[in-house]
Amino acid sequence: MDLPRPPLPTYEDVAEAAHRLKGMAHHTPVLRSSTADALLGAELFFKCENLQRMGAFKFRGAFNALVQFSDAQRARGVLAFSSGNHAQAIALSARLLQMPAVIVMPEDAPAAKIAATRGYGAEVVTYDRFTEDREAISQRLASERGMTLIPPFDHAHVIAGQGTVAKELFEEVPHLDYLFVPLGGGGLLSGSLLAAQRLAPQCRVIGVEPEAGNDAQQSLRAGKIVRIGTPRTIADGAQSQALGSLTFPIIHAGVSDIVTATDAQLIEAMHFFAERMKIVVEPTGALGLAGARHGGVALRGRRVGVVISGGNVDMARYAQLLGTALAG
Ligand SMILES: *Cc1c(COP(=O)(O)O)cnc(C)c1O
Repeated sequence: MDLPRPPLPTYEDVAEAAHRLKGMAHHTPVLRSSTADALLGAELFFKCENLQRMGAFKFRGAFNALVQFSDAQRARGVLAFSSGNHAQAIALSARLLQMPAVIVMPEDAPAAKIAATRGYGAEVVTYDRFTEDREAISQRLASERGMTLIPPFDHAHVIAGQGTVAKELFEEVPHLDYLFVPLGGGGLLSGSLLAAQRLAPQCRVIGVEPEAGNDAQQSLRAGKIVRIGTPRTIADGAQSQALGSLTFPIIHAGVSDIVTATDAQLIEAMHFFAERMKIVVEPTGALGLAGARHGGVALRGRRVGVVISGGNVDMARYAQLLGTALAG
């Protein structure tokens, strides 16, 4: 039996999210680079969510979801499972809204990430990735403590919040021909499509996922959700195994194409951002530029938006990755 699907979010939800986020999320800058323009023979506009609060766009979706909790939900708090940016986004949003937060993380998650999440005031519950099922643990905790579970992408309020990134870009930069968007579970891409439908219907929106984890590209071609094993890639924010029941239909209906980028291309893009634009971008955050540069889309003479989705990368790892780019 098919469960009734919750209604898909619309542009109006993105516009309402923008109101809720006013004064809470940063309106991030759009950077230009004449070197990038020359390299691609196009005009490039980089939307810098690496400069967002907590270092990634995920703050937008998390805050937009939590701020809509009822008083009863606020009193019990929020629960999330994530070892990445969603964890920190939920923890920070919960602190700002003064509600309890529990984040379920694998016990072998990087100590720095566990510390950062605790630093935002969340309680971290760890589990053994090899013997325990995080969804089962999360469901049990949620029902024991009456907390509300907020997933990282397949939630209407999360998608609407993420859509405010592209909304800001389209409002600031008219007449974009293309927009390249990093893609994991598809929250950011879905939200971008909702914004594009209303604000830039002529703009072709293209998702970029890691080559090793091209489940969304396969899903688009197959016309149904394709699930893969956890991909091996340095793009740790895009290691999702499948699109969601909300993100898939929005992407399937609206996306122009989905292209992929290799780890070497991500490192090349991170290196470009550091050397030429003086900005720190995490591997997943570099998907947009890598896809624009290597995805086979003819961009010469076009106006091209690129979302830089995040900048959270351990400095030792960052140095190591950039070192391989120099050696290579
Ligand atoms: C989560 C994340 C993504 C992927 O976003 P989805 O909404 O899951 O597609 C891309 N970049 C960064 C930096 C992220 O944290």
